[in-house]
Amino acid sequence: MSDEIKTGNANQDKTSALWTGDYYNQGTVSGDIFDTLKEECGVFGVFGHPEASSMSYYGLHALQHRGEESAGICVTDGENFNYHRGMGLVKEVFDKDRIQSLVGDRSIGHVRYSTSGDSRLTNAQPLVFKYRDGDLAIATNGNIVNEPLIRRQLEASGSIFQTTSDTEVLAHLIARSPKGFVEAARDALSQLVGGFAFLLLMKDKLLVASDPNGLRPLVMGRVGEAYVFASESCALETIGAEIVRDIEPGELLVLDERGLTEDRFAEPKRKALCAMEYIYFARPDSDLNGSNLHAARKRMGGRMAIESFVDADIVTGVPDSSISAAIGYAEQTGIPYELGLIKNKYTGRTFIQPSQELREQGVKMKLSAVRRVVEGQRVVMIDDSIVRGTTSRRIVNLLREAGATEVHVRITSPPFKNPCFYGIDTPDRRELIASYKTIDEMRREINADSLAFLTPEGLIQSIGGLNKDDYKGGLCLSCFDNDYPTQVDFGGDEKEGCSC
Ligand code: SF4
Repeated sequence: MSDEIKTGNANQDKTSALWTGDYYNQGTVSGDIFDTLKEECGVFGVFGHPEASSMSYYGLHALQHRGEESAGICVTDGENFNYHRGMGLVKEVFDKDRIQSLVGDRSIGHVRYSTSGDSRLTNAQPLVFKYRDGDLAIATNGNIVNEPLIRRQLEASGSIFQTTSDTEVLAHLIARSPKGFVEAARDALSQLVGGFAFLLLMKDKLLVASDPNGLRPLVMGRVGEAYVFASESCALETIGAEIVRDIEPGELLVLDERGLTEDRFAEPKRKALCAMEYIYFARPDSDLNGSNLHAARKRMGGRMAIESFVDADIVTGVPDSSISAAIGYAEQTGIPYELGLIKNKYTGRTFIQPSQELREQGVKMKLSAVRRVVEGQRVVMIDDSIVRGTTSRRIVNLLREAGATEVHVRITSPPFKNPCFYGIDTPDRRELIASYKTIDEMRREINADSLAFLTPEGLIQSIGGLNKDDYKGGLCLSCFDNDYPTQVDFGGDEKEGCSC
């Protein structure tokens, strides 16, 4: 069951908290068993289809990997405005009756990951506001770097905030403008600095916006006459949509009774789509900017083999995100690919807080080394990133305990040294192992026989895609090279990570 539920329309608003603890196995507490980067959020929008809420359900289900904390759908038929939000997975928050009660032909939906401090229903999206022209719902993916500065200015002039979400800041900026809704939204969006994809729903229109650098993915599709939007193309494929195109940096799409109007709120700046989407976050069956994720990851593995070959008996990938790259490494070298590591898919949430000893063992709940595969073998272990180093050490040790004679670690990204300001929840810079250790020191720390990272050039060439000839391949590589595509210093009034 969902842990908290919130259902309503503009006049009805109930909240009940049934569970307020941490999910230790979900990545929401410090010192989590896995120190991997945390997914951000996913958005899904429909305009002009009578089964908007069912489509949103299936679309959000396909985006579940982008956020397991909460889910929500807001729908309108042009007259009524209804929504339902809850803590938990999409399948826990919504059942058949709930979906059938959300009647309308236009909708926005959201799945959310959040840090533990923000793990509460008031931040679950879509957020719904009373606006002077009617109800307004907003869903977002990403992070507004200058949000603390704008929030402080708004508070100084009388605004009262109910959430810590960026979304509410956008709503306040829109509400304060004397202009009509679309113009007010355009002005408000132009004040934001960061990486974001926004869906804004009113009874008579849907607005779709992407930040001027295109940092966060957002794709448009069609189902018959209807328009659909999603953070990843896999969600559009799930509902049988025809993929039309990615939303361009700085674009503002307006959908209303006249159909689609392609407009913008800002001139496009340096294209800088998040490279970690390709490396780790997005599903392998998604396409971003003309590149399929599985194919791109295979190329990363192949390139890794060219840049940092090591002879071995088998290649294995850390599931799930590194399996494609491991296949690429194996194809390039001729070393057989084997399932040396198996992920237990059914550990979703565990409500028991473990002792430290059990916690150390807990990695085996999520991941197992296959003894009959790795015993007596020299293993190349492909992974996508090293954050603090603790996870890598545990996985290397799993392989050694299962009898691997050598473990060579190959990482399909450059060393992760800098925090993200655009929607990825990263630890403090001082906790990022690559920021304070050499590669050989890291190798010793994770107990590997050898360690190598993909070069930035190798990463860019492997990803390819529509923007491959642009500066840095049209990618954001800031967490690797400290070259941020936007201003990130607002005199201490800036925000890192994710605050969807
Ligand atoms: S800093 Fe890293 S994680 Fe953040 S948007 Fe850029 S590439 Fe992605």
